[in-house]
Amino acid sequence: MKRKRVLITGAAGFLGSHLCDRFIKEGFHVIAMDNLITGDLQNIEHLFKLEQFEFYHHDVSKFVYVPGDLDYILHFASPASPIDYLKIPIQTLKVGSLGIHNLLGLAKNKKARLLIASTSEVYGDPTVNPQPEEYWGNVNPVGPRGVYDEAKRFQEAMTMAYHTFHGLETRIVRIFNTYGPRMRLNDGRVLPAFIGQALRGEDLTVFGDGSQTRSFCYVDDLVEGIYRLLFSDYAGPVNIGNPDEITMMDFAEEIIKLTGTSQKIVCQPLPTDDPKQRRPDITKAKEILGWEPKVNRAEGLKITYAYFKSLPKEALVAKAHKDFNDYNR
Ligand code: UDP
Repeated sequence: MKRKRVLITGAAGFLGSHLCDRFIKEGFHVIAMDNLITGDLQNIEHLFKLEQFEFYHHDVSKFVYVPGDLDYILHFASPASPIDYLKIPIQTLKVGSLGIHNLLGLAKNKKARLLIASTSEVYGDPTVNPQPEEYWGNVNPVGPRGVYDEAKRFQEAMTMAYHTFHGLETRIVRIFNTYGPRMRLNDGRVLPAFIGQALRGEDLTVFGDGSQTRSFCYVDDLVEGIYRLLFSDYAGPVNIGNPDEITMMDFAEEIIKLTGTSQKIVCQPLPTDDPKQRRPDITKAKEILGWEPKVNRAEGLKITYAYFKSLPKEALVAKAHKDFNDYNR
């Protein structure tokens, strides 16, 4: 039987690479695409030997050409950490606008079903907690996070427009903070930041007074939710995340315990527009997909810590960022 063919953009990134693994495991032909600005080929190098895997080094904000049939497209290309989208704001906006437009055109042309990675950033700094899909959000379009938040919001609007106007089959996942192996140690996100600091023997940097909350989902749970959503018949946005909410101060304490570091916690200024609370309402995912997270934070953190510990020593040095300036055109 002919394998179903899926295009995964952002395939060399943290989530994209785990999705490649899952779709290969399920017997798909996987066409992986990435421009490698923030992605890393190491995340998918184990797949290159497979004949049902191919890789295109391409920026989806430029016209996307894929020969042959396509059954599914998963759009996961985007800088996704606050540090990254502060460094490459224009690219972040382009991948969420020009990029999605190209992929919607491709999906229409190939009669493929398209799933987009939206995120909890569409809710901005939310005034309701937990956040249900019906909440419209509280976003500052011209603040530093606006480039990411608005790209995600535009991407949802564009996808819905293709769905209603062209009858395209589309799915929208709203991803909440997710963690696991293959996160970049220097992407500035709180979990790799804390674990990296512990491993290097540095103090843990809590921003603000640490009372802001996040809810962390283990990557395997997220991938399962996305897989179910793709094959559901629901076109509205669905939150996928773990509702177990924790303050950043308590989270720092957890990492100190986990790693056994003797370093302490130091407070640093809170970044502009940093959301004060974030927790998914996952009623829809439960009802529509029969999905809920299975891996608790203690288990997930153990696996993730083991991964970071297994990296070569050089990887622990907080590397300077690549020169991104070329991408801000
Ligand atoms: N944070 C922190 N110390 C760090 C990095 C991040 O206290 O070294 C905080 C950050 O201010 C935010 C939370 O951790 O409140 C999560 O930040 P992250 O960058 O992981 O992603 P966000 O959820 O804000 O998109």
